[in-house]
Order: sequence, then structure tokens, then C-alpha cells
Amino acid sequence: MISVPDLHNRLTKLGCHIVAIQAPEGLKRFLPRLADELRLLGYEVIISGDPCYGACDLDLSARDRADVLVHIGHTPVDGTELVIYEPWPVDGDISVIREVIPRLKGKKAGLVTTVQHVHLLPHAARILKDKGIEPVIAGPSPRTPCRGQVLGCSFEAARKTGAEEIIFLGTGLFHPIGIKIATRARVFACDPITGKIEEPDSDRLLRVRFGLIQKARDAGSYGIIVSSKTGQCRSQLADHLCSLSDKAYQIVIGEVTPDQLLNLGFPCYVNTACPRLAYDDQVRFSVPVLTPGEFEILCGVRDFDDYEVDEII
Ligand code: SF4
Repeated sequence: MISVPDLHNRLTKLGCHIVAIQAPEGLKRFLPRLADELRLLGYEVIISGDPCYGACDLDLSARDRADVLVHIGHTPVDGTELVIYEPWPVDGDISVIREVIPRLKGKKAGLVTTVQHVHLLPHAARILKDKGIEPVIAGPSPRTPCRGQVLGCSFEAARKTGAEEIIFLGTGLFHPIGIKIATRARVFACDPITGKIEEPDSDRLLRVRFGLIQKARDAGSYGIIVSSKTGQCRSQLADHLCSLSDKAYQIVIGEVTPDQLLNLGFPCYVNTACPRLAYDDQVRFSVPVLTPGEFEILCGVRDFDDYEVDEII
């Protein structure tokens, strides 16, 4: 939940009258209520109805029709102007941290989480300290402005801890697997909603990715996907990938869907947009969608032993 009086203060300071509001899919239903509250305060409100998956995915056409875009649920990943970010904190049961302590081998552990749980980290750190474990929480990075924050496209806060054991406080295994590949540390996925603790297995993912690279070797051409979204556009990387093969073609695209890739007809794609597309969504695509590093392996300029999880730096 966000504080409307705080938001009102920020909007007043900026002298805004017309406000565009945007939220990711899970929070979109909150937007009409927020619009009502802002209208009662005298604002004209425009609701963004396009899909939104992160702060990389700002609705600039809605912003351009307003004085400012209020983006809910995330923190900034770039310097796009006239955007106010309103994270959406989600509470959970922090006792899962107590439960993980007996499983640690050392006396020091890195502590990371996603933006919705960053407010829980100080409490989690105190629990570790009380039990004689030194918690290491990394400072902010350009794409992750909160201490200890990781994103599906940035595990910098985990790497910066330098710890051999890392505790991820959050839901799902995507981030913990990414952290494990990025750091080679022992990783514990501690879910503050279910109370479940898991040690993610990155080997299975790596085996799948190896199989995809092998399959892609037979492709006669490669579509290099370049995102038109503000915080996902890696055009220099796409140029580099194109320079590795004369069978590579750049494709600028906003929403990457199975239908679009099917219609374009390439037998293999290389994704420079949101890294989760290649990892999470491969099952939805009928042809291999490689990461940039995987394409380098295919082109012979990188060894599979040097596999790096795809991140936006
Ligand atoms: S690029 Fe992907 S992982 Fe990164 S912020 Fe955007 S949606 Fe999230």
C-alpha cells in the first residue's frame, strides 16, 4: 500500500496537476481507487492500461500526456525524467530467518531481497546478529537503489557481499538460482510468505541452457531481439552480437510474445531485452531463445565453463 498524503506532498512540490499512474499487472486493480483519491485532491488522472513488468517498462506515452508518471511497485532502474516511483512494501513472517540459521556453515552470511521486502532486511539482520552470524548487506547500485536489493536482471547486491553463503528473503526460485550462478555461493531461498526454505539447484537450468545452445547451432539465421522499452534497451550489446555472425539480424520489439516470434520466423533468437524472457519464458517459445552470453558460446568467443547469468549492468 502506498501513502497518498506522501504522494500528494511530492506532487505538490513538483507543481503537478495532471498525473499518469502505472502499476504492474498484480497491482493494476488498485489504480482506479488511487485515481479516485487523487481526483478528490484535485488532480486530473490518466491510468496506464498497457502491460507493465518492471521499472524498465515505463509508459512514456501516458507520462507525455501528463505532468508526471507515478510508477507503483518498483524503484528506478535508469534516469528517466518526470517519473515518481512508489514501491509497494509487502510484509511477511521474518521467523524464516531464524529457521535457516542452523543450516549455515559459517559465521557470516550475505542478505538480499527484492524491493517489496527491503523494509524487512534490518529486522532479518538483527536476528542473524543475535545468533552470532555477521549479516552482510551491500549498498545501493545504479539499478538497485535500496540496500540489499536484487532484481531479476541484477544480482550485484549479492555479488558485492563477497559472502560464501547468501540468504535470499523472498518468493520463488528465479532470483536464488540467478544469485547462485552469479556468485557461486551457497544460497538459501527463504520465503517470508510460506515459511519455506530451499537451496536452489542451478545445475538443472545450466543443463537446459546447454541443450538449447546445441540445438541453436543448426539455425541458419538468428534474430537479435532489442527492446524498445526504456530500461531494457541494450543496443550496444545487440551491435556486438551482430558483429559475431553474418547470419544475425537485429529486431526492435516492445512486447516479445510467442506469436510475434513465430510470425518473424527465425529458427533461433537472442534476447537482449529483459533477461527473464530467455530463462523464464523459454517454455512458451517454439524455438531457442538464447541469452547474449549463450550466443557468444555458440559463436566460439566464450567457453561454457565461463557461463554467466544474463544481467543488465
Ligand atoms: S528487465 Fe526484467 S528483471 Fe529487470 S527490472 Fe525489467 S522486468 Fe524486472
